Amino acid sequence: MDIKKELGASRRYNLHTHTPFCDGRAPMEDFVREAVRLGFTHLGFSPHSPLAIESPCNMERERVPHYFGEVERLRRVYGKQLRILAGMEIDYLSQSWGPHITYFRELPLDYRIGSVHFVPTRDGRMYVDIDGRPESFRRKLAEYFDGDLRYVVQAFSRQTREMILAGGFDIVGHLDKVGFNASQVRPGIEEEHWYRRLVDDIVDLIAERGLMVEVNTKAYSGPDAGRVFPSRRIISRLKAAGVPMIVNSDAHEPSLLDASRDEAFRLLAVLPDRLPG
Ligand SMILES: [Zn+2]
Ligand SMILES: [Zn+2]
Repeated sequence: MDIKKELGASRRYNLHTHTPFCDGRAPMEDFVREAVRLGFTHLGFSPHSPLAIESPCNMERERVPHYFGEVERLRRVYGKQLRILAGMEIDYLSQSWGPHITYFRELPLDYRIGSVHFVPTRDGRMYVDIDGRPESFRRKLAEYFDGDLRYVVQAFSRQTREMILAGGFDIVGHLDKVGFNASQVRPGIEEEHWYRRLVDDIVDLIAERGLMVEVNTKAYSGPDAGRVFPSRRIISRLKAAGVPMIVNSDAHEPSLLDASRDEAFRLLAVLPDRLPG
């Protein structure tokens, strides 16, 4: 599916919506009802994909057909009021598990978000979910990575690069989430030269591959108020590189479906489309 074409000029959509098949906190139908109430033209679901490792937040492989069944049912009931899309937020772990593998390519999805949540430990024996709240990030940093923040940031970036090179998805999910978490531990890390270079290389790669990037508003009203993923500096770089962007709330409950999306659209409009230093 050509997402840009599908959405057209609409701003009334959300393509990053979780479900009870993963860690969403309400039935899919409640999200649809809320989307109708909000006057949305499109609602795309994006449960966390099945994984090759244990994870309580991810959908089990056996339940994937049920997910598609529920999308079908909702389309029959609400299909005249809005377009309901079947997407998935697919985790990249390694060359053997990510959006590029045959299993995901063969699923009848309308679109795919590629996201990194897991980072391998130095010995490669374990994948650690570094996506959680700042307290949990801090604890895991100490417990699994000997406090080596730079390693975690570099490993996250490496995972992101590998995922982009391997392909099989349309939209890059919360591109610099690790920068946000890392800056809770070391404020200002996102301004450090080596960090900027890591991210800028990823921006170039995204542009080269013709991918889209989401502006994710999940953290906008959190402790670091006004924060979006990617950061303002990166959004400017993406604009300069001509990378198409969409705005997603990453909602886990219906009341947050439209949260901070207007603010993100405003940011997209006002941020300069030149290369900041
Ligand atoms: Zn995610
Ligand atoms: Zn998500």
